[in-house]
Amino acid sequence: MTDCDVIVVGAGPGGSLAAKTAAEKGLDVLLIEKRQEIGVPVRCAEGVGREEFEEFVMPVEKWIASEIESAELYSPSGYRVKLSADQAGNEVGYVLERKIFDRYLAMLAGKAGAEVLTKTSAVWMKRENGNVKLGIRCMGEFQEITAKIVIGADGVESRVAKWAGIDSTLKLNEIESCVQYLMTDIDFNPTTTYFWVGRKYAPGGYIWLFPKGKDSANVGIGVMPSMAERPAKYYLDRFVREKFPEGEIVEVVVGGVPVKGAIDTAVSDNVMLVGDAARHTDPITGGGIINAMKAGYHAGITASEAIEKGDYSESFLKRYDTRWMNDFGQTLVRNRKLQEKMLKLNDSAFDRLFKGIGEMPIGEMNVRRLALELFKKEPKLLWDLREFLV
Ligand SMILES: Cc1cc2nc3c(=O)[nH]c(=O)nc-3n(C[C@H](O)[C@H](O)[C@H](O)COP(=O)(O)OP(=O)(O)OC[C@H]3O[C@@H](n4cnc5c(N)ncnc54)[C@H](O)[C@@H]3O)c2cc1C
Repeated sequence: MTDCDVIVVGAGPGGSLAAKTAAEKGLDVLLIEKRQEIGVPVRCAEGVGREEFEEFVMPVEKWIASEIESAELYSPSGYRVKLSADQAGNEVGYVLERKIFDRYLAMLAGKAGAEVLTKTSAVWMKRENGNVKLGIRCMGEFQEITAKIVIGADGVESRVAKWAGIDSTLKLNEIESCVQYLMTDIDFNPTTTYFWVGRKYAPGGYIWLFPKGKDSANVGIGVMPSMAERPAKYYLDRFVREKFPEGEIVEVVVGGVPVKGAIDTAVSDNVMLVGDAARHTDPITGGGIINAMKAGYHAGITASEAIEKGDYSESFLKRYDTRWMNDFGQTLVRNRKLQEKMLKLNDSAFDRLFKGIGEMPIGEMNVRRLALELFKKEPKLLWDLREFLV
């Protein structure tokens, strides 16, 4: 006998989708979140691509901060590439208000039948008689809860991964260090996302500006600590001083984004990991909201099959690995390889590429065609990247 079928640790997008999916399948689900308020503080630039996002949840006005129609990318010397919605793909869509969105997703899980407990942390875990026992601190009180399956959706600093013995360790070149300001009193087009690339701006990463309505925007940076001589904040402050000297900072976010690519496995006996806990973020963009939701969905489905079968072993749960790997895992592997090659491009290479694109009639081209034309124009520069471009 267990207290419930599934405990989901962490009510971010991954955990809430897992809890919702498992509850919709009729399982007895407990979703626990250590923070008192779901979604706060936000550690995210809040951008998502439209199509994939809408596969899971239809947008609701109260948590859509902006709708994006185009993206602008800048090279170190200021060459600009402007992409329409069709060309920019995942870089355009919505900028969310995650404080409200994360709570909304948790409410969907609750409506589907999951019990949601906030201000409740998982503090230890052990396996016992084929089940799993979790120590939790709920509103300051310690309790023990047993379940058949634990879904670890506890983010980049996942403790469930460690307790479960799943290797998700990150080396220095496998995590981007990020800082972000919510800024007001700055000039931007509220339907455009902006990116600045190159070592001058952000060694091993990029700077972004994601509008949040007309009056404010998330202006942030991710750098690769193994490449940056200074902390991420130094580069962001320098950028902000130069581009937006009049701007006001009204909120600061600091966080790490795993860019490891795919881990070998996100399961062990009784346990599945989803989202940042399983390093499901894209190594190039750092985006992880949609993959976390996809993984949560797959974990919820797998949990219901495991419970129907009465088998929570690692070998049964491996079908969850197959699902996320087939869905987006291959892209993580490919983008990690691409990212490693892109890190070798210096600033003059970025300038030449952007200048080259600027001289092409890109209005008609999709990303694939654009890459091909660019490769024809700059074969020497892009030789290393050829397998990804053509
Ligand atoms: C600066 C920055 C900018 C980003 N920008 C974007 C972006 O624009 N687009 C995008 O798609 N992605 C972005 N990301 C990545 C994105 O935020 C994550 O990939 C996404 O939030 C992962 O969702 P998740 O559900 O796996 O984890 P999280 O959203 O991190 O949720 C994990 C939850 O688990 C809870 N938790 C942790 N430990 C415990 C415990 N022991 N017990 C109970 N609860 C626990 C936490 O409080 C948290 O609520 C960004 C990240 C950073 C740092």
